[in-house]
Amino acid sequence: MTHAPPETAQTPARGRLKDHGDVEPLRPLRVGYCDYCRERIDPTAYRPGMRFCNSTCRTDWWKMARNRGAQLYHHLTVWRMHRGRKGTPGAGVFSRISATIDMWARKDRGGA
Ligand SMILES: [Zn+2]
Repeated sequence: MTHAPPETAQTPARGRLKDHGDVEPLRPLRVGYCDYCRERIDPTAYRPGMRFCNSTCRTDWWKMARNRGAQLYHHLTVWRMHRGRKGTPGAGVFSRISATIDMWARKDRGGA
């Protein structure tokens, strides 16, 4: 398996739009602000639907999303295998997912 450099829906890849698999276009978390660093996007550069202030933030966001998404995918796959039944590895999966997302939110706000 080869690993191409991260690209976005806004970045044409070899004459076509890169789609990151089956991910539908994502709306900005907050219009006019970067989804990664949370800073305001330069108003003179802003275009509707823009999610990042620069290519570094875009690349870093996709790296983070890929890693975090893999963790969530794993949790959900375990849950699906066991349907969350007590006494199985699937028990408590949604609590673990919620705790994980809370931890990421704290980390993203600059906490530990
Ligand atoms: Zn940014």
